[in-house]
Amino acid sequence: MDAIVIGAGFAGLTAAIKLHEAGFSRFVVLEKGDRIGGTWRDNTYPGACCDVPSRLYSLSFALNPDWSRAFSPHHEIRDYMEKVARDFGVIDRFRFGAEVETAVWDEAASLWRVTLKGGETLAAPVLVSGLGQLNKPGYAGIPGRETFKGESWHSARWRHDVNLAGKAVACIGAGASAIQYIPEIAKTAAKVVVFQRTPNYIVPRNDRAFSDFEKSLFRSVPAVDRGMRWLIWKLMDLRFQAFKLGTKAADKFRQQALDYLHAVVQDPELRAKLTPDYEIGCKRVLVSDDFYQALVRPNVELVTEAVQAVTPNGVKTRDGVEHVCDVVIYGTGFVTTDFVSPVEVVGRGGKTLNEAWKDGAEAYLGMTVAGFPNLFMLYGPNTNLGHNSIIFMIEAQVGYMIEAMRAMKARGAKALAVRDDAFARFNAQLQKDLTETSWAGSCSSWYKTESGKITNNWSGDTLTYSRMTRRPALEDYELT
Ligand code: NAP
Repeated sequence: MDAIVIGAGFAGLTAAIKLHEAGFSRFVVLEKGDRIGGTWRDNTYPGACCDVPSRLYSLSFALNPDWSRAFSPHHEIRDYMEKVARDFGVIDRFRFGAEVETAVWDEAASLWRVTLKGGETLAAPVLVSGLGQLNKPGYAGIPGRETFKGESWHSARWRHDVNLAGKAVACIGAGASAIQYIPEIAKTAAKVVVFQRTPNYIVPRNDRAFSDFEKSLFRSVPAVDRGMRWLIWKLMDLRFQAFKLGTKAADKFRQQALDYLHAVVQDPELRAKLTPDYEIGCKRVLVSDDFYQALVRPNVELVTEAVQAVTPNGVKTRDGVEHVCDVVIYGTGFVTTDFVSPVEVVGRGGKTLNEAWKDGAEAYLGMTVAGFPNLFMLYGPNTNLGHNSIIFMIEAQVGYMIEAMRAMKARGAKALAVRDDAFARFNAQLQKDLTETSWAGSCSSWYKTESGKITNNWSGDTLTYSRMTRRPALEDYELT
């Protein structure tokens, strides 16, 4: 084979199409789930939709004139991905129910040897990780979870078989996922108690449905679709200035979020609970047209006292109050800083990625790691964004990977490994640049390890990243 790709989300899908087009057509995409979609397969909670406009949150080479809304719902995105896989002739390259357990670099043969759950092994010179950053639900270590007598679940494992109408529902967490489903469940639940540890900055989403006229215009004049996509990308990229500490753009952005809060929430006590005290952008800035509106409903209560434990009957907070409920929903995010986990990746000299990353994950341009030849990570360390579309980053990464594979082929090389000095130099500069960004602010976030190292986010705008990844600087690599 030419390559083994792990994961059938946007990264795995893009890799499959571009490998196919480049003639590296002997590859397989291994996926432990039962269909394409990644995060858009896993996250099916009510109200799940993308917080990046759909015109931009799609592949540049597969525009979709049929998006129903400015911010499309999750199932439309998942269906789009399946359609793209069919249209580009790669759907039969996906192997579902194939869970990768280990990937070991065989130096003598210059091959990655991959073992699946069940014992089957495969081998290929190139290994592509499309595992992403948000695939492992996290439960925040809250004690007592297993003692709860009612139903409970994580936002990324929604229980559609449980009808919430008339029930008392405890929602732990008030992040990007929770602010989407809380307004939906508040419409039917008897009572919703929201446990918020830290308030977020929220700006209006201004979502709307596209008219039939607009859809037919996008279909018949693709240049309009492409032009709108470019404009949205450019405006969002320019907004990166607001994600730098101490800039006027950041002050303006913060004021915009606070003005929105003041416009919707009149009660000063509730407003105070919802006002963040850290730099804007430090945590993900959320977009919503209905979260604050849901919090002022009579059947919704916001609790800011710390959650101490889940009890058999509900959720107990630090002040000793037990909030009795029928259902507990954990909107407590994901385990984000160990990247390829739970796959064990073993590189040169038997060193695992976990050992290489004992002080926090790092990669060269987010893709390659010293000591791990021919491994390309997509949406790897330090490639997450707060201001633009991750699909743009994935396309840049896949293009870079294909160029690297072409360079290997042209030179008759079997292995391409980033040089130690280039790897160290890149990461030193990256961490220095990150100190100026809002991710380095005073909050805690899923972008940082417990020791405070920023392992998830890119330090600049996406234009800079696309320029840096246009083609591999081969002097930074050892080809053997
Ligand atoms: P998240 O943003 O990390 O939110 C987790 C929430 O759980 C936070 O409010 C957090 O509070 C809270 N929490 C954690 N431990 C807690 C505890 N012990 N007690 C009480 N609350 C606790 O996770 P997420 O909402 O699943 O979103 C993760 C990421 O997925 C987002 O940042 C975004 O990148 C992506 N996402 C995207 C979309 C989209 O539309 N494209 C939608 C959903 C998610 P603290 O803030 O205090 O830690």
